[in-house]
Amino acid sequence: MKQFLLAGASAWAVLALGPPATAGVSVSAAKLADHIQIMSSDAFEGRGPATAGEVKTVKYLTEQFQAVGLQPGGDLQKDGKRAWTQDVPLAQFDNKDPIKVSVTVGGQVQTWTQGDQVAIRAPQTGAAQVSVKDAPVVFVGYGVKASERNWDDFKGYDLKGKIALVLVNDPDFETGEGDFGGKAMTYYGRWTYKYEEAARQGAVGFIVIHETAPASYGWNTVKNSNTNTVFDIIRQDPTKDHAPIEAWIQRDPTVALFKSAGLDFEALKKLAQTRDFKPVALTGVTFSTEIAVDAKKIVSKNVVGLLPGTKHPEDKVVYTAHWDHLGVGLADAKGDRIYNGALDNASGTAMLIEIGRAAAAQPRTERSLVFLAVTAEEKGLLGSEYYAANPLYPLGTTVANINMDGASIYGPSKDFGTSGDAPLTLQDDLIEVAKGYNMTYSPDPRPGAGSFFRSDHFSFAKRGVPAISFGGGQDLVNGGKARGEALQKAYTTEKYHQPADEYSPDWDLSGAARNADMLLVLGTQIANSRKWPEWKAGSEFKAERDKTASARK
Ligand SMILES: [Zn+2]
Repeated sequence: MKQFLLAGASAWAVLALGPPATAGVSVSAAKLADHIQIMSSDAFEGRGPATAGEVKTVKYLTEQFQAVGLQPGGDLQKDGKRAWTQDVPLAQFDNKDPIKVSVTVGGQVQTWTQGDQVAIRAPQTGAAQVSVKDAPVVFVGYGVKASERNWDDFKGYDLKGKIALVLVNDPDFETGEGDFGGKAMTYYGRWTYKYEEAARQGAVGFIVIHETAPASYGWNTVKNSNTNTVFDIIRQDPTKDHAPIEAWIQRDPTVALFKSAGLDFEALKKLAQTRDFKPVALTGVTFSTEIAVDAKKIVSKNVVGLLPGTKHPEDKVVYTAHWDHLGVGLADAKGDRIYNGALDNASGTAMLIEIGRAAAAQPRTERSLVFLAVTAEEKGLLGSEYYAANPLYPLGTTVANINMDGASIYGPSKDFGTSGDAPLTLQDDLIEVAKGYNMTYSPDPRPGAGSFFRSDHFSFAKRGVPAISFGGGQDLVNGGKARGEALQKAYTTEKYHQPADEYSPDWDLSGAARNADMLLVLGTQIANSRKWPEWKAGSEFKAERDKTASARK
């Protein structure tokens, strides 16, 4: 660990932005490993919100935050003191088994199996029963309506009473050139956008066609993330945000359906990559399903630790990591049903705890540091969404959000990244700090994956708060890029969002410990300065931040 201490000290020499407050403090790889092993053990049942696994996780985090020297930073209680947690009320929906689902092609009924051909999310409209009988099926291309880009895949087509098949990612992902950022994904490429559009179009539902490259993950991930419990924040009229059917379909049955309707899937996909595309009905094809829904309200919890600032306690630098994972779900080939989520995100949560310990051990910063472990990230960033919509501390004086989702488990790297390359001075600050650790910045290797919209910092960013999600690099000190990329690829296919995301004694967390040191230095510098990190010109989040400019002196 010594080399990291020396590197940390030189970061201060380079920047001279504040006192060397972290000298002598270093995050321990062994402690990170302890937290990860405990939180990803089968006893924590995959840390599903509103399960026994949540109770254990929240208790563990509360005890750890207290033990490392943080103060409670959660909900204000009647006695004027703060709790360790923030209540996060959520609506919870489950499909009652079995789901009946079929398509009729030229009068012939084909029965499908949930999880095999399709993954139908539990309906979130508030209805206890969803019945769809012989709904016509229409292909709507990428399902994008973007007036600022002069793009409308619907062209006024009436989708009421109909099921739409929609491509994932945005229209210029495959060609790499066009009005939607080329290979980089805009928000129009996210499946969450597609479902929002389904509700706006008044469709019975949208079924997203799964293809591995544009989705950036395989069918197993789709199946595991969409066939178990789903959650939403509590809404006045859920039908404004949710169509009854929100689902995914595998590529092969899709191609077969197109064929049976006399259509060529690949040819129509090419057409969908042009402005002239119009919806195409799959003549002779209808869709039916019967779903009974178990809906209830639950209260999950964010866990919040605080280190009040000495001079400007109202200004907050907020570290985040999501504590939840997928809980218990469908079994894998080995019969394992517990989605342990060791990397995703017991590892980032472990970093959060240990950054908290190091921060509590160093001289107190002038601005406050907040350590926020959020719930329900895997359900659609809901814990961070709830926090940002109901902030415990005003967002106008929230200086920055530094998020961690997945730690480095293959040892130190020569580089690092941020999810989706935020156009942000905070990122420049991080690049400067990293120089002291001999780490260089690598741009997002998969800009088409839409990573900026897929981590909890997005809940802050869309409300204007300068926010980044840190990611360890792939250019490993031991084995270089070739090893890093191979390991990353293997993780994505074999473990990501699968029961196999388990802790292994082979993991080398020394890189994660060094990264945690580095993120502490970044937050400490900001918290000891009067600087306000900013969005760069052209960022879609800048205007939102500017609205609260008067709060920042
Ligand atoms: Zn995840």
